[in-house]
Amino acid sequence: MKIGRYDILGPLGRGGMGGVYKVGHRALGRVMALKLLEPHELLSELMGEDKVREAFLREARLMAACDHRNIAAVWDLDEDQGRPFMVLEYLCMNVGTLVGEGRVVENATRVVPPLTALDFVRQTLDGLEYLHGRGIVHLDVKPGNLMLGSDGTIKLIDLGLSRLSGEAWVKPRGLKIGSPYYASPEQEANPEKADERADLYAAGVVLHRLVTGLLPVEGMVDSPLFSTAWRIFFWRALAVDPAARYQNAGSMRDALEEVEAELRQGASNDCVLVEPECAVMGALRSTPVRTGVKPRPFDFLDELYRPLKFHETELEEVADGWLDRCSGLVWGPVSPWPMTWDEGMASVVDDWRMPTVEEVVSLLRPGQGLGEFCHEPFGDRYLWVWTGDRRSYTSAWFVDVGGGAVLAQDRSCRFHVRLVRSA
Ligand code: AMP
Repeated sequence: MKIGRYDILGPLGRGGMGGVYKVGHRALGRVMALKLLEPHELLSELMGEDKVREAFLREARLMAACDHRNIAAVWDLDEDQGRPFMVLEYLCMNVGTLVGEGRVVENATRVVPPLTALDFVRQTLDGLEYLHGRGIVHLDVKPGNLMLGSDGTIKLIDLGLSRLSGEAWVKPRGLKIGSPYYASPEQEANPEKADERADLYAAGVVLHRLVTGLLPVEGMVDSPLFSTAWRIFFWRALAVDPAARYQNAGSMRDALEEVEAELRQGASNDCVLVEPECAVMGALRSTPVRTGVKPRPFDFLDELYRPLKFHETELEEVADGWLDRCSGLVWGPVSPWPMTWDEGMASVVDDWRMPTVEEVVSLLRPGQGLGEFCHEPFGDRYLWVWTGDRRSYTSAWFVDVGGGAVLAQDRSCRFHVRLVRSA
């Protein structure tokens, strides 16, 4: 199917205003994301078709006017058979998919290492500071609206129901703005009154989610993992009264720095590696598979796709890589840049190959402290590494080394590649 200059390659997601599709720009050959105005029936009923269309065009123009690394770029706005569409940079991952926040938002999710979580939220605050400086209140900050570049750059999306200061705006009766648990109490009560501090509340909920896997219900969860610095931070960030919160993105970011400083002090204790005993849990599968789209395709992973057990690893540098004495595998270097799955497959030479899920998982280390994950064999927080295993024709499995989980993504996504060979 075609829309204007774009070939539709598949669906990516759906928001209140429209469907988002993966598309290819016919002349450039580049993959992009196209959002087509296809409003949810309820939204059309509540707002009226003209108003929805107006809001859609406004979103595209607002985003296109932004020039900031933490706001997704809009490249085109056009119409196809009377239906407007906008074209955005294509981003494979978002923070919601990274931690596995699904339809039942109450369910516990995976966590990310605390320093990564702090970095994601700091970037979110940078993006919000820019929006707030332009008089825009986002009103729907949540993990699913924090897209991620393959180097871990946060890109805010979804300004569809944001508010612009000075703009006459009357909320249609019955229209909820924001998402349950992430929307601040004053926004739930009256979104017309909510100001930038509502976005900061939501950013606080995101951080809480990322480090605990849980949503704060009536304040932060009572976890022994939280030090005093974390408690002080969440106590302010999640205050019911906006006047008791951080008053702007900058001061919230400064407060995060204090949490980070404390965390770094304790970090030296984080990666206490146990003396390896070279206990390999059975032979590792080396032949790639295509699992099909079914639940729990790997029996060595839990329901959130994290390893149930960890292997020992003892890496020794050899001429062309690192020999893991425990698994008998030789690992090559991590590719310096992320690449598509097909590019990864094409980079295979001699007896090197793309590793299977089991093989990459053998390098993961269990987490410690506040969900901290030791990933020494990789030594890079944001690393996502392709495996040679496919899920379907269009998607393949990759390992989120920082979070210690196995996920599937479209083959056109760009992740790192680390080839392996048998010793
Ligand atoms: P939205 O209506 O903006 O909330 O988008 C709905 C869904 O489409 C999001 O939750 C994403 O899964 C997906 N999506 C939106 N923008 C992009 C993008 N630039 N690249 C890839 N997927 C996207």
